[in-house]
Amino acid sequence: MGIVGERARVLVTVKASPQPSAKYGDTVCVAGLRIDESPHRWIRLYPVPFRWLSSSSQFSKFDIIDVTVKRRVQDSRTESFVPDTQSIEVVEHLDGWEARAPYMNLLPTTATCRLMSEAERDHAAPSLGMVRVASLEGYALEDHPGWTAEEEAKIAKAMMSSELDLFGTSAPPATKLRAPRLKLRYQYKCQEPECPTHQGLNLDWELTALQNRYHRESLDHLREIVKDKFIRQMFEDRRQTSFFMGNFEAPFKRAKFSVLGTYYPPLTVASKVPLF
Ligand SMILES: [Zn+2]
Repeated sequence: MGIVGERARVLVTVKASPQPSAKYGDTVCVAGLRIDESPHRWIRLYPVPFRWLSSSSQFSKFDIIDVTVKRRVQDSRTESFVPDTQSIEVVEHLDGWEARAPYMNLLPTTATCRLMSEAERDHAAPSLGMVRVASLEGYALEDHPGWTAEEEAKIAKAMMSSELDLFGTSAPPATKLRAPRLKLRYQYKCQEPECPTHQGLNLDWELTALQNRYHRESLDHLREIVKDKFIRQMFEDRRQTSFFMGNFEAPFKRAKFSVLGTYYPPLTVASKVPLF
């Protein structure tokens, strides 16, 4: 399905966990920086039936991709674009923190307090942003309830649908979309001086992927594995940890922001002034 639109160069920083979709099988919300514009701007690419894409169109976090996009008119969030997934070309991968620093160290950060209050007032307020975590106050690992009957029905319908060919996908993915067993919620303070502490649900695909890799482990062991990666490693003292935050499309949920991904370079890399 080709679309008439503009060509954008995007540094992908966010791939959110796949959600069941009757139309696309399952879709992923992708976000990143549009680096063909100056200053760089946040862009959201949705929908992306990622698991259903041909392998040449699949990309990783911190890949730079070229993609044809069109403004998603039904979504009032100004960063939202529909990608032509068949037009995706991977340009390069920024491997390691050093390679990412020239882009990320230039990026203005915001605060969750600010994102929330602005979104409350104005539906066109920023819906994506990078927030430095001033302090991690705690976390909760909750049981994921699994897919609802409605979500299961969407998955089953999509697997049988031939309409999916229309979206440039070759064949259904080898595995049915598996619900994660655990949900991770952070309690943290952003950098606003009077921050009252936020609850941030982690929606990163990396969290689901890690759980899938260890789906045969006991729940107790899985908790330890998740905690080791998403708490201990990502919040080490020698790192500067930030969240990529995003809100919801539904107008009544606009002021709710979730954690779409984590950026945690070593302090030595985070403090470098980029030389362009
Ligand atoms: Zn705050």
